[in-house]
Amino acid sequence: MTTGNINVSVENIFPLIKKFLYSDHEIFLRELISNATDATLKLKHLTSIGEANVTYGNPIIDVRIDKEGKKLHIIDQGIGMTAQEVEKYINQIAFSGAEEFLNKYKDSAKDSGIIGHFGLGFYSAFMVASKVEIITKSYKDEPAAHWSCDGSPQYTLEAHEKTERGTEIILHIAEDSLEFIEEQRISTLLVKYNKFMPIPIRFGTRTETNTIGEGEDAKEEQVEIDNIINNPTPAWTKQPSELKDEDYKNFYRELYPMQFEEPLFNIHLNVDYPFNLTGILYFPKLSNDLSMQKDRIQLYQNQVFVTDNVEGIVPEFLTMLRGVIDSPDIPLNVSRSYLQADGNVKKISSYITRKVADKLSSLFKDNREDFEKKWNDIKIVIEYGMLSEEKFFEKASSFALYPTVDNQYFTLEELLEKVKPLQTDKDGKTILLYASNEETQHSYIEEAKAKGYEVLLLDSPIVAHLMQKLEQEKENLSFTRVDSDSIENLIKKEEDRISKLSDQEQETLKTALTEAIPQEKYTVQLEALESDATPFRITQPEFMRRMKEMQQTGGGMFGFGNFPEIY
Ligand code: ADP
Ligand code: MG
Repeated sequence: MTTGNINVSVENIFPLIKKFLYSDHEIFLRELISNATDATLKLKHLTSIGEANVTYGNPIIDVRIDKEGKKLHIIDQGIGMTAQEVEKYINQIAFSGAEEFLNKYKDSAKDSGIIGHFGLGFYSAFMVASKVEIITKSYKDEPAAHWSCDGSPQYTLEAHEKTERGTEIILHIAEDSLEFIEEQRISTLLVKYNKFMPIPIRFGTRTETNTIGEGEDAKEEQVEIDNIINNPTPAWTKQPSELKDEDYKNFYRELYPMQFEEPLFNIHLNVDYPFNLTGILYFPKLSNDLSMQKDRIQLYQNQVFVTDNVEGIVPEFLTMLRGVIDSPDIPLNVSRSYLQADGNVKKISSYITRKVADKLSSLFKDNREDFEKKWNDIKIVIEYGMLSEEKFFEKASSFALYPTVDNQYFTLEELLEKVKPLQTDKDGKTILLYASNEETQHSYIEEAKAKGYEVLLLDSPIVAHLMQKLEQEKENLSFTRVDSDSIENLIKKEEDRISKLSDQEQETLKTALTEAIPQEKYTVQLEALESDATPFRITQPEFMRRMKEMQQTGGGMFGFGNFPEIY
């Protein structure tokens, strides 16, 4: 047997980084601004613990485009680097200065919000740049350094005359990446990834119109102001006690500027043990058409946008919600399937489920009337959750509502209590009658109501599956559609069945009707109904009625595709 070291040649590494490090070239900007932010947060930390004897001030990060020079500059006022540190942190690929810093200052720095940890972010600059320069001056009393590299393993490092503290990264944008010196492109990227980062980011200036004076003397004045693209203290980083209802609504608008409908309510997430997670989730008004759902939950790590695909992190039924989740504890450098098996992620997912259930439960208890009003807009999430997450099913059983055709809302327990006397069949089963379509089942609904039965209106695309589950969970419970034949099994009061017509009249009517219609398709029922409107009924067998409906509705969300034409 022989053992040995695999020989990695540096020559090979740049093309690899360029091609495979990140599939999206645009994230280079996120990485460089993360580094600038880290450098500033480190300085903040060091000044706060008295290890750096400089004034922290109000540092910002500048992003500048030099169109003619085809250059992009990212300038910070953070800790900077000495020439030695450049050698250490930049020339060693995959050595993370961020990680080193967090290890060194362990406890005191754990909440500092420092972002980096793989030691690869900086090199993503070479995905879009043919040459990268670093001009940097440390907060320590040492001369500035100038590093330069054209993407080959050779670099140059020399002294520089820079006197202000901080780092300037200069990207010489490659010919195939010139989109990144377009103002619009950079502006869009900054908003996408950096909108809520903790250090102010300035991208040029913009004009603002101010009104001076009042009434007739009022004048408008144009002023140039710094174009700060981020909100460094977004709502989710604050304590719930600091926030009013209006703040949550404003933040929703900030997150989704194109959403004009207000959210129904929000849930503030905030844990730091056994994992770290903050965030705000919103329940939007949902239409039954979930394909319309394009504003999604956004995932952040230390206020840096990562993705709006939270599949695998948030339970599926909650992906219909909106808002943000921020957690440094979600491993993102792994595949989605691995993610679902990760212990932390599992805990996060069940924490979120529990918080949502608790919120719904308290809304139900604190203001039932309001909860009932919102029910139709939120039921799809709750019903879907009850079907897919056992834990949620248990909690939701106490607040899931079943509305009647008369707009009354019952919990299952209340409902069973109410209908037991009248709607229990010979075998002791409680029959819950429901309509799935108020219009086409109208006469059946009226008939059942006339007999004193409660009729539910259950029309969401998933409620049919939920009914099945409830029947399995609860003994002696059956959901029966209001136009189903088995409704006959209900105990009926004798007088209901007595026709107002004489025997002779009934016979004549029945013969006449039976002769008039094709019997293989329809049946004639002469029933003396309490409502005078329908003295008799011509029906199709139940299965035919159902098939027809399915055809009309295209089978619904969980439908069965096309049925052969049967009429
Ligand atoms: P990471 O951020 O994961 O540590 P990077 O490759 O992004 O790795 O950066 C490597 C290191 O280079 C950083 O940890 C930091 O020490 C140093 N560095 C990069 N950018 C700056 C900057 N703007 N100011 C100060 N130091 C920087
Ligand atoms: Mg980094």
